[in-house]
Amino acid sequence: PYQVFEDARWILEVLENNGHQAYFVGGSVRDYLMDKHISDVDITTSALPEEVEALFEKTLPIGKEHGTIIVLGQEQQFEVTTFRKDGDYVDHRRPTSVQFVTDLYEDVARRDFTMNAIAMDKSYQLHDYFDGLSAIKNKIITAVGTPIDRMEEDALRIMRGVRFQAQTGFNLDRETEEAMRQTAHLLDKIAIERIVVELKKMITGQFINRTISTINHLDMFKHMPFFKHIHHDTIFIPQQSNFELWIGSLCYLYDLEFSRLTHLKISNQEKREIISYYNLLNAFKHEDKSRVNMISLVYSYGDKKVKDVLQFIQENEARLNIQFHPTIMNAILVDEIYDKLPIYDKVDLNINGQVLMSTFNKKGGPWIKDTLNKVEQAVILNKVKNTQNDLIEWVRENVEI
Ligand code: ATP
Ligand code: MG
Repeated sequence: PYQVFEDARWILEVLENNGHQAYFVGGSVRDYLMDKHISDVDITTSALPEEVEALFEKTLPIGKEHGTIIVLGQEQQFEVTTFRKDGDYVDHRRPTSVQFVTDLYEDVARRDFTMNAIAMDKSYQLHDYFDGLSAIKNKIITAVGTPIDRMEEDALRIMRGVRFQAQTGFNLDRETEEAMRQTAHLLDKIAIERIVVELKKMITGQFINRTISTINHLDMFKHMPFFKHIHHDTIFIPQQSNFELWIGSLCYLYDLEFSRLTHLKISNQEKREIISYYNLLNAFKHEDKSRVNMISLVYSYGDKKVKDVLQFIQENEARLNIQFHPTIMNAILVDEIYDKLPIYDKVDLNINGQVLMSTFNKKGGPWIKDTLNKVEQAVILNKVKNTQNDLIEWVRENVEI
């Protein structure tokens, strides 16, 4: 027995006791069969959304029009979706309508890959109409039904196929991959937000190196916003990265203007992350690799980001053309520097604008910010102790006011 399924079992029981069918389905069943960690379970049922709402005390109608009701348990929440068949696909995007059905087969038949189309009942019996278990055993990603039709219906499945390859290391079934190649141009029709969701999962996939040749073969990036403006036959796909670091490295390698990031329709927070990774890569390319410089970088960017970038440079040294200096570009050193930092933020300084103005009897102005910046640098480089008296003394001796 698996804890996540045991925790959700009561939902299946309530549904069944009221005359409905109910199963676990999708990613959780797949990951269970692959012995992977399962985060959340999805439940599929013959009960209509209204019936689900009526049977459980606390529910949320998230995605009710597509049949999904969230059932709230004591600590967890569960997605319960009515068996459905997708309506017509218009323009290769997700269907405009859904039709609720009473047959489990129809519900799994609309799913993308056979490994994602396995249903499992509360006693762990599989209902595996498309032989998803063999696909998992043989490590193959196969479309449910006729591959070309399924990719034409919803071109996002091309992205999903590639990201599942990066996450599992499985091979794409020949016909499935060929269908993906033939329909890759339809990615132009897919909202970039949905593509980005898949790219984030892809780039952190453990087997991303296996995916590179698939991506080149499919010629996908030509058909995606942002990426299509990078005029390069093979777009750099790194090891050991995350989405923001990857995009930052593309800006660095291909000299892209940050204004292009708008095409990705990501948040400002994500843009800032990308730009700070870009700045760090440039710093390691151009600035001196001295300990002093390292202290400034660790202070400004934080230990985690610096370590991520160091590992990234080490893994992708040749392609980035940044020389890796193991003695100074070293995670242990970063930890040590970080632990010894006398302050972690400007607000930790034991001096501020008010103190400066009264001590030097001078009105506010740009000199305050300039002075505090100098004090900050001196403190992190241990040139002065972070007490008010020491700092004032240091300013008198070192800053012209
Ligand atoms: P993850 O572990 O990353 O969540 P997942 O397989 O659970 O992977 P979800 O996006 O959570 O992916 O979707 C849940 C299930 O819904 C899938 O397993 C699949 O059966 C079905 N599904 C999702 N997206 C599509 C799609 N574009 N076309 C067909 N079926 C899909
Ligand atoms: Mg999921």
